[in-house]
Amino acid sequence: MTRSTVSNIVKDLVDVGVLRTAATSRNGRHAVQVSLVRGQGLVAGIHFSSRRLRLVIAESSGKVVAERSDLIAGDNRADTELDRAVILLAAMAEEMGNSLSDVKAVGVATAVPVDSDGSTPKLGINAGWEGVRIRDILQKLLSCPVAIGSEATLGALAEVRTGAASGFQTVVYLHAGYTISAGFVFEGQPFIGAGTRYGLLGHVSFDGDGGICRCGNRGCLETTASGRALVSQFRDEPGMNRLSDLVDTAIEGNPRTSRVISDAGRSLGIAAAAVCNLIDPDILVVGGELAATGELLLGPMRHALERFVVGGTKLVPEVVPGGWAPRSAIVGAVESALALLSSRSVVRVA
Ligand SMILES: [Zn+2]
Repeated sequence: MTRSTVSNIVKDLVDVGVLRTAATSRNGRHAVQVSLVRGQGLVAGIHFSSRRLRLVIAESSGKVVAERSDLIAGDNRADTELDRAVILLAAMAEEMGNSLSDVKAVGVATAVPVDSDGSTPKLGINAGWEGVRIRDILQKLLSCPVAIGSEATLGALAEVRTGAASGFQTVVYLHAGYTISAGFVFEGQPFIGAGTRYGLLGHVSFDGDGGICRCGNRGCLETTASGRALVSQFRDEPGMNRLSDLVDTAIEGNPRTSRVISDAGRSLGIAAAAVCNLIDPDILVVGGELAATGELLLGPMRHALERFVVGGTKLVPEVVPGGWAPRSAIVGAVESALALLSSRSVVRVA
């Protein structure tokens, strides 16, 4: 085809809204960038985990078209991370030939609980992220509706919609990462209680005389089984600064890191047994960074469940790694954004 023929076809497709053109440059020369206009626009997911920022842009069909994942500092704060997420999202959209205004809805997963008004409660356990009106701030910065929920709630949502818990009605999702939390699905829908302290499984105390926790209590599950606690046991060893270092070496067969992860699995199993005795879920899904260790974590978990679930082995629910792990929360964030965009389903996650 001649240049003018291509130009006319592009012009016709721009006129009917199929393509979009933008001035750009290539090899120092002026050029026209042609990009596809996608259906109802794009949606995005943002996951502010304890040590990692994940961002996804997806089409209205749910197909992921851009994704990035960056480590963030342990002392990260909402005031800097919210701005950073918006800047990175804008850069991702531009790399695709779009702009931030093409993103029509955003779902956000946080490492902290979220109140029903989209703000973080003041619980004294999440320095830098307390009393922040995250939904309002992001809606203003992004100029689009924002759905928000905890990483465990949105992880549970992803797993029950399209992951390992697909088709189950009563689901407990255990986020096992730097922090520990739980997400619940009842009758196929996420459950967040009154909406402030839900899912704080990591701060259930199992030893009144145990170590002091960042929440001020003693003997919380997080003091022994969280990624934060596991990494602290190797703090003086080079190359063992991150949870991923422990996970990788355990998978490779390192006896010491394997041991601390299997011990964490046992503690998680005891805590999960208490949850099972209260809720009686159909299935227990494990997500978060520790889920990558598979049976190293899940084996001791099952063993503890068999010992501590009332009724014994036959009443222990199936325990499986998340089908989307360790991306469950960001997949759930995209799902909640799609729900906003299409209003095809009402998902109350905060
Ligand atoms: Zn605690």
